[in-house]
Amino acid sequence: MGTEEISRREFLKVVSVACAGIIIGAGVGYTVAPPKTIEKTVTKTVTTTVSGTPSLTPTPTAKGYPWILVDISKCTGCKRCEEECAKVHADGVSRVSIVKYNEQYIPILCIQCTNPPCVAKCPVKALTVNAETGLVTVDTNKCIGCQLCHESCPGHVPEYHPERKYAIICDLCKGDPACVKVCPTGALTYVEVPSNYKEAIGSWILTVYSKVKG
Ligand code: SF4
Ligand code: SF4
Ligand code: SF4
Repeated sequence: MGTEEISRREFLKVVSVACAGIIIGAGVGYTVAPPKTIEKTVTKTVTTTVSGTPSLTPTPTAKGYPWILVDISKCTGCKRCEEECAKVHADGVSRVSIVKYNEQYIPILCIQCTNPPCVAKCPVKALTVNAETGLVTVDTNKCIGCQLCHESCPGHVPEYHPERKYAIICDLCKGDPACVKVCPTGALTYVEVPSNYKEAIGSWILTVYSKVKG
């Protein structure tokens, strides 16, 4: 296997390590269904030939950000997450998509980059980052549908409303993620993570997304 090739085995290995990591953080302002805190204390190093060698040493006292942890090894492709996400959003469009790749179903959604290139590239400032939660928010009135956010996102995550053409990006359902609640296998978990966790695991996930959607 070449070092740049993503195999299902490599993907599953890294995701399973990610799930074993410590995830502890302070509250971030959501009052509805706050992310659960995983209290086990462990330190893990994530190694992959796909994106280099990201190291993961979560700090228990670090500020936590709400995040959806994706464990693709548990995804069966049932698409209940897609259906529910579309149902709870007024425009009827899902912010998560399930893509089949190498016989594995992969849930794709925004991983909320620490320094999001999509935000930097938007020519009309339609995308902003919430400093408290790290969420990227779309101002649908400003968005002109130029798709520069899709092109600049390393995982090409943003999609567009089929008629109104504005960008579609996960909003964590304002702190009560519908997809997590309906996923029957635990492939999606709502957690809090420190920023170094988001950067280490998130950048690897985006590398996988870029192969899947590229
Ligand atoms: S609901 Fe869960 S198992 Fe079903 S497609 Fe979505 S992530 Fe995969
Ligand atoms: S994953 Fe893509 S859409 Fe989400 S913040 Fe990062 S660059 Fe933007
Ligand atoms: S958290 Fe909400 S907006 Fe994000 S993918 Fe899940 S259902 Fe959709």
